[in-house]
Amino acid sequence: PDLASPDLASIVHDIAAEMRLRAERGTVADYIPALATVSPDRFGIAVIMADGTCHTAGDADEAFSIQSISKVFALTMALGAVGDALWQRVGREPSGSAFNSIVQLESEHGIPRNPFINAGAIVVSDILLGNHEPREAIGEMLRFVRALASDETIRIDETVAQGELQTGFRNIALANYMRAFGNVRHPVEKVLGLYFHQCAIAMSCRQLAAAGRYLMARGRHPESGRSVVSPRRARRINALMLTCGHYDGSGEFAFRTGLPGKSGVGGGILAIAPGVASIAVWSPGLNERGNSLLGTLALERLVEHTGWSVFDPV
Ligand code: GLU
Repeated sequence: PDLASPDLASIVHDIAAEMRLRAERGTVADYIPALATVSPDRFGIAVIMADGTCHTAGDADEAFSIQSISKVFALTMALGAVGDALWQRVGREPSGSAFNSIVQLESEHGIPRNPFINAGAIVVSDILLGNHEPREAIGEMLRFVRALASDETIRIDETVAQGELQTGFRNIALANYMRAFGNVRHPVEKVLGLYFHQCAIAMSCRQLAAAGRYLMARGRHPESGRSVVSPRRARRINALMLTCGHYDGSGEFAFRTGLPGKSGVGGGILAIAPGVASIAVWSPGLNERGNSLLGTLALERLVEHTGWSVFDPV
């Protein structure tokens, strides 16, 4: 591959064409109707370069439920609110267990392994609530994501949020269990109200790649030039995405792509090539670890063709 100037438009187009033809597409999440009814045939990809150039293919402008990808934006906001004090309540180690696992919480005294599993994200929501009512905190999160993406049209899918609430027994259990340890401090209904709504943010690949630009640009919002987070904090968030961004499939994802990435059960993945590109892919069918099957394959292809992994010197 020509690392200096890969013909990105055709690479992205070819990846979308290959993914469209694939027979094996994984299993669409079915725990709520609003996700179960999304067609497994969908595939989208958006690549935004450091200079602002954007390449898209497939269903790159169709909004999908970002689900756990929201954990990246929530962590960024919570670090802004309380700084490194956050790390007294959430760890930074890969869990090696499923996204909604409760088992490690007992021996670790209610401190979740990392902010990208459900337990960790619920503590982050508790921190974000601060002195706010859930409605205010949800509004603040939506404003933050819109500002990151420079797109005021991003919305929350209320049907998804209600579905999460009706089926969220495990998340309710996680929140209550951590409340027993004092690591969730607000009433669990309020904390989960925020958590379920952040999971229900709907975005397209183009919007998601735009929202991730600060993580490729050492913490700066490339359009406004403003600092979203310090370079050190951007590096740390990327490191957590690389080691913890795909639940118990994080090692496999890092092995295959060499990129920081965060997946969600809606089938989206946000991946960052630091200094080079912010990338979003979407295909609703999931592998056995709950990560997008074709999304992962598409990112693997992109890295093969461009040499963009963090372990390949540019
Ligand atoms: N709303 C989902 C849950 O908390 C998010 C899980 C995910 O995207 O992995 O169960």
